[in-house]
Amino acid sequence: MPLSADKLYECLLSHFGLQHWWPVDEHYHKKNHSDPRFEVMIGAILTQNTAWSNVEKALLLLKNKNALTIQQIAQLDENTLKTLIQPSGFFNQKAKRLKNLALFLQKNYDSDINVFFRRNIQEIRQELLSLHGIGPETADSIILYAGDLPIFVVDAYTKRLVERLPLSVEEKTYEGTQKYFQENLQKIYPAKDLVPIYKQFHALIVENAKNYCKKNPRCQKCPVNICCASFELFQ
Ligand code: SF4
Repeated sequence: MPLSADKLYECLLSHFGLQHWWPVDEHYHKKNHSDPRFEVMIGAILTQNTAWSNVEKALLLLKNKNALTIQQIAQLDENTLKTLIQPSGFFNQKAKRLKNLALFLQKNYDSDINVFFRRNIQEIRQELLSLHGIGPETADSIILYAGDLPIFVVDAYTKRLVERLPLSVEEKTYEGTQKYFQENLQKIYPAKDLVPIYKQFHALIVENAKNYCKKNPRCQKCPVNICCASFELFQ
């Protein structure tokens, strides 16, 4: 029996329950009068090619240095920034990317994240993609989790699931996969629910990939194995 995007979502949600993404230290931001959305933006860059546990270590060092605002990252000496984010790996590249983003927001939006996000999604996306080292997955994570705007994030786990189930994605590119999920979910759920659903769905796909749909999958306990065309292949 083929699986639709909404059935996949319901199935993963009922198995794993609500996920609490994107993890942000609200208490820290309240205390420091800083904007938690910039922490999400930093996290979206730091998480490139590394596990979240490494990102957490880097975020903690940035917090201890009070360096979680646009102004602080923009002003921070690049070598100091590299040292602080070292646990997240690729720290030379990532330090440049963080500085670029902070300087861009400072110069073009007067460090006002509200103004940055108060525009058409595609305009925001194109602007983020024009920044060095920000690709579609990072840009869309920023738009969805920091901007609270409806865009579906596609990552390597999503692509794996699309291949294995399979889902009826016509064009298996990043944008084709994103279009499939967005179009199918928009048909089922009201517009006001799309942001929380896209947030949950992405987190659930990651959870399923970490627990079951790994490189060498553990299909026996996977919540969608009954609908998966690859189930037999991996037995
Ligand atoms: S049944 Fe196996 S291959 Fe299919 S989605 Fe689950 S873990 Fe992945």
